[in-house]
Amino acid sequence: MNIGVIGSGHVGLVTGSCFSELGNKVICMDDDQQKIEKLKRGVMPFYEPGLEELVEKNVKAGRLSFTNNLKEAVENSLVLFIAVGTPSKESGEADLTAVERVATEIARTIQEYKVIVEKSTVPVETGLWIKRTIERNKPAGTEFDMVSNPEFLSEGNAISDFMNPDRIVLGFETVRAKKILFDLYAPFQVPIVETDIQSAELIKHASNSFLSMKISFINTIATLSEKVGADVVKIAEGVGLDRRIGKHFLNAGVGFGGSCFGKDLSAFIDIAQKAGVDFELLKEVKQINQDLRRQFVKKVKEAVWNLNEKTVGVLGLSFKPDTDDLRDAPAIDVIRSLQEEGALVKAYDPAAMANARHLLKNVTFCQDSYEVARGADCLVILTEWKEFKTLNLKRLKTLMSRPIIIDGRNLFDPDQMRKAHFRYVSIGRPPISERK
Ligand code: NAD
Repeated sequence: MNIGVIGSGHVGLVTGSCFSELGNKVICMDDDQQKIEKLKRGVMPFYEPGLEELVEKNVKAGRLSFTNNLKEAVENSLVLFIAVGTPSKESGEADLTAVERVATEIARTIQEYKVIVEKSTVPVETGLWIKRTIERNKPAGTEFDMVSNPEFLSEGNAISDFMNPDRIVLGFETVRAKKILFDLYAPFQVPIVETDIQSAELIKHASNSFLSMKISFINTIATLSEKVGADVVKIAEGVGLDRRIGKHFLNAGVGFGGSCFGKDLSAFIDIAQKAGVDFELLKEVKQINQDLRRQFVKKVKEAVWNLNEKTVGVLGLSFKPDTDDLRDAPAIDVIRSLQEEGALVKAYDPAAMANARHLLKNVTFCQDSYEVARGADCLVILTEWKEFKTLNLKRLKTLMSRPIIIDGRNLFDPDQMRKAHFRYVSIGRPPISERK
């Protein structure tokens, strides 16, 4: 099938590459000229494991190409995915400027039947607005159908998530569009949720809000555990083994970040508000997550007493492992707060250093974790990168001024840290002295 993907970011590029891998002919379009030039040279605009190889393979096979020209993508495609960004406005409302612009441009370009698929995460009824916009601007007599097909991939595991989803959600209005999308998704042997466009749009916001709620829930249990000397890791195990609840998204820590959860929570609260529903529950989920960053800085302060002129080594900057994405990463807020307290910050991340240099001021960026540890008054862990788990603790301790680790991701076993003679502070677990 001939496919065009408008917006070649984390979702668009993965969507395009994966569909080309399945034998379709895909054009990925973006209005960012630099991004497209890079892609044409085989350089990925962001870090995602396996993506470079997938792109290279499919470009070589003649199934995947890149363009800045929307007309080219539209003319050569039957199905057009809209995968542009939908960031938050100050108010929390989703900013649909890019979606509207793309819809208008598609309308001015189409000459024959197309299926326009909403892949971006959008407020309910955006599909209706896109449809109206295209109807108003397209040449008379040109037919098209709208489909909502939200994406559930998660960065760092995006290709596998896209290729092996738990389900595919398709919201459509006509049998013609349904048939085309079912053909496209035929290689995926997973349940397809068929529904109307509004329900498909709501499924995406409801899913992300539910996952955020699980994280804020377990983090509140972590705060309670700290007060009463319980162990949140064991509690999560005990709760998560109940199949009605499930063990995923029950890791206590410094909270969620990234381009989706915070933004989608705010957008969903705003959507509900506009529909006359006060979604207090989600406001609380958001607030709990925001408070975690402050609480974490307080923990660092308690561990070293006074932060002024102390050297704090930060391990992990990206909002999760296996990505270089720093959007709403807890590390950014935490580092800025530490600096406000007068701390001197050194930092290392296996993938996000280049992005971090643009965002953070007065941070000493290091080659590796050991360089961060050299002379540090404490280390803080903010991303659960696998390589941190296998650090040589003995070497780390020798390098540090004081052997203090404040672990925002519960990466280590407290007993292991005690044996390694660290003062180890983690999330929702009793201090070592109280452990049996
Ligand atoms: P992104 O910022 O990585 O990519 C968006 C791309 O759209 C950028 O490359 C940008 O240059 C391009 N763009 C913007 N305006 C354009 C225009 N007018 N014409 C052509 N291209 C344009 O964003 P993303 O992370 O890929 O997210 C895209 C959408 O998918 C969002 O709605 C997001 O909520 C949703 N989503 C993201 C994830 C994720 O993990 N990142 C997962 C599921 C859904």
